[in-house]
Amino acid sequence: MAKILIIGAGGVGTVVAHKVASVPEVFTEIVLASRTKSKCDAIARTVGPGKIKTARVDANDVQQLVKLFKRVKPDMVINVALPYQDLTIMEACLETGVNYLDTANYEPPDVTKFEYKWQWAYHQRFKKAGLTVILGCGFDPGVSGVFTAYAAKHHFDEIRYLDIVDCNAGDHGKPFATNFNPEINIREVTQKGKYWENGKWIETEPHEIHKPLDYPNIGPRESYLIYHEELESLVKNYPTLKRARFWMTFGQEYLTHLRVIQNIGMASIKPVLFEGKAIVPLKFLKAVLPDPGELGKDYSGETSIGCRIRGIKNRKERTYYIYNNCKHQDAYKETGTQAVSYTTGVPAMIGAMMFITGHWRKAGVFNVEQFDPDPFMEQLKRHGLPWHELHDVDLEL
Ligand code: NDP
Repeated sequence: MAKILIIGAGGVGTVVAHKVASVPEVFTEIVLASRTKSKCDAIARTVGPGKIKTARVDANDVQQLVKLFKRVKPDMVINVALPYQDLTIMEACLETGVNYLDTANYEPPDVTKFEYKWQWAYHQRFKKAGLTVILGCGFDPGVSGVFTAYAAKHHFDEIRYLDIVDCNAGDHGKPFATNFNPEINIREVTQKGKYWENGKWIETEPHEIHKPLDYPNIGPRESYLIYHEELESLVKNYPTLKRARFWMTFGQEYLTHLRVIQNIGMASIKPVLFEGKAIVPLKFLKAVLPDPGELGKDYSGETSIGCRIRGIKNRKERTYYIYNNCKHQDAYKETGTQAVSYTTGVPAMIGAMMFITGHWRKAGVFNVEQFDPDPFMEQLKRHGLPWHELHDVDLEL
């Protein structure tokens, strides 16, 4: 039915490759490309002989991408490299007439800032070219936006309060490791907190606001208010929201390591001179930390990510909690990775499937909540991420 090109051969790329290959009636041809071709080859071997072709590409280089796209002629590119490559890949898509999907919004490498403005600015060009761009189609961002759209469509006349809650109650057995690319992860969690209230953004010190929240099948976990990218699109697409926040759990051990890493300057993205060579401390740190894609084997426990929503239905106030729990060991058995890579890679595959099968197809640049959530929600259940709903419960928030 369609040819798909995956860019990025890390933890998330591994899951996308497995999942895309598991739906051959939709994805008839698969190419996996990344900076290090041997990693693509290793993934292709675990998926099965003859299922995936591989290629080498530096996705910072538009001309290399254009050459690859012209040779492969994919219907869609799934970008699961790093956020730094979003714009170069989008440029190459425009030049070669290819549709685009990613799981994280653009970040300039030299500033710790992530915003949709750079990618939204491409809307008219993609619209004119008749091409679809699906932004932020992992779990959060991704399923968090689809859950919100599903709630707004089926359970509320007006959504007013949204809290996205992300708990990883897993244990990987390492003193310190991040669950996705360490550089991107540390940039995200060390920045100031921010949430939306009464029409404006309120900034907090990093991890200033926290409280224990009760997660299904897990119990109470200390949860920290952080800024997360889907808040930007959700408050724009749901103007009835009076407040929108994002909470993530962190263990004390993780926070202590993080504080030390920051205090000794290893979280810095400013290059320093080391033995005559300029190196970025955070990039060096990434090189010595455990590879998130390799954590799966000894990972126990589970993740629980969902949306807690308060709003109005038939003039009455209602509450609603929709969530998915995913066990690290189940993810490992199926794909050789842990649940954070899994919960990101599965929605990326489903988003591409939504495009290929015509459910999510319109010209321009869109966030996931701008499409019909129903066919996506149906596929989540079929492809390893079942979801659960609770109505009129205490949201704790
Ligand atoms: P990894 O670091 O494990 O993998 C990134 C891959 O991208 C690596 O294979 C790397 O190549 C490749 N890459 C990096 N730079 C380039 C380049 N210039 N050209 C070609 N390939 C390149 O990251 P993860 O798999 O953990 O994360 C992938 C993406 O998923 C990230 O953008 C992350 O932010 C996003 N994410 C989204 C989530 C969500 O829920 N929405 C949750 C978790 C992650 P090499 O092997 O050579 O280093």
